[in-house]
Amino acid sequence: MMKYSFDYMYERVRANDNTYDGLFFTCVKSTQVFCVPSCKAKTPLKKNIEFVNTANEALKKGYRPCKRCHPLNKPFFTPDWLNEVKQFLMTNLNRRVPDTELADLVNQDISTIRRYFKTQHGLLIKDFHRKNRLEKASELLSNGMKESEVASLVGYHSVKGFKLAYTKQFGKEDNNEHRG
Ligand SMILES: [Zn+2]
Repeated sequence: MMKYSFDYMYERVRANDNTYDGLFFTCVKSTQVFCVPSCKAKTPLKKNIEFVNTANEALKKGYRPCKRCHPLNKPFFTPDWLNEVKQFLMTNLNRRVPDTELADLVNQDISTIRRYFKTQHGLLIKDFHRKNRLEKASELLSNGMKESEVASLVGYHSVKGFKLAYTKQFGKEDNNEHRG
């Protein structure tokens, strides 16, 4: 299901309207190339166009990214495998996940995964993962769970190491700390 009517999208493409970039993509059947709405290339004839919602959809249909508007080099583009990586990290908060394991999981070059992560989150993969593990820890602590239990549930072998990371992340000691 498309969000807009064909004619509406066609008009946006004719106007090179960049406010719709990322919201839909123009696939050109005659050239097997796909574009963002703002592409400066000559607007194709209506009969040569099909619209899709996502870049992944265009790729699955066999279209190649346009060399002029580079629809894959945009901040809105999230490859399917990147979602898979994030999902995997979020369901494995109980341990450190080596980058190489992620590379094997989605069959992508580790440097590619790191680059996309950096662009989308401004973080290294391990920093993103640690942040989420410690946020989980924070939630468990506020539910009244003991520090020693929480530490091992989010993948720390020692309470000391856990507390150090926790303080570094949130900039404060947790409330159970004895302040003698
Ligand atoms: Zn283009």
